[in-house]
Amino acid sequence: MQKSVPILQVDGLSVRYGKVEALHSATLTVGAGQIVSVIGPNGAGKSTLLNAIMGALPQTGSSNGVIRYLDEDVAALPIERRVSRGMCLVPERRELFASMSVEDNLVLGAYRRKRAGERSFLDQLEPVFRLFPRLKERRRQAAGTLSGGERQMLAVGRALMAKPKLLMLDEPSLGLAPLIVKEIFHIVSALRETGVAILLIEQNARAALQISDFGYVLETGEFALKGPAQDLQHNPQVIETYLGLVKKAV
Ligand code: ATP
Repeated sequence: MQKSVPILQVDGLSVRYGKVEALHSATLTVGAGQIVSVIGPNGAGKSTLLNAIMGALPQTGSSNGVIRYLDEDVAALPIERRVSRGMCLVPERRELFASMSVEDNLVLGAYRRKRAGERSFLDQLEPVFRLFPRLKERRRQAAGTLSGGERQMLAVGRALMAKPKLLMLDEPSLGLAPLIVKEIFHIVSALRETGVAILLIEQNARAALQISDFGYVLETGEFALKGPAQDLQHNPQVIETYLGLVKKAV
């Protein structure tokens, strides 16, 4: 079988904030329909990696390297152009419109498709409600009054309204109770069926590796390990540093 072109191929990507190099020559691939996770401790450079791929680094940051997306180098493209090609980032902060309803937040997620003249720009609303029945129940509720887990569901749901080809999730488990983390990861895993490729950044290594095809371990700005997620789950170094102390599977 012919190997398909990866959705994302990052090569030699480095990022500096002034004199500090936060990411050093990162090389990473996300294949079509894959879930790929990057795990690593606080400050390893995980958010920096996602922001650089998205073109969303703060002004103080500068990046170097190849970001090949759907066989085109997008490293010099502004964020809007990357978004319009189907890249989507759900940031750690979730950034919802607190006073607007759940449904209006979702509709806003399809804004670019509407602006591009797509008549069917709301076609993902029902699929999103099927994935997240809780959002459907609370469709009229203000986003600001949702629980942490529901807010995360809304952030992911809103991203899906844009029909992304590459969905990047920055620590979706952050601040959530284990049961909710389990639910969120179950849904992320189910997204595989929709064909979207997912790049997942996580400190919760166990939950991330359980649903991923491939994994990378980022430590102080460099990839220290990489491999099929199953192999990483059994790698003694990963077990000792990232999985060892947590006995309970989430
Ligand atoms: P966490 O899991 O805590 O979110 P992370 O792995 O996502 O951490 P980054 O937020 O990417 O790590 O940070 C990597 C390094 O870059 C850190 O040393 C951080 O202090 C530094 N850094 C991040 N953003 C900036 C910035 N805007 N200006 C200067 N340094 C920054």
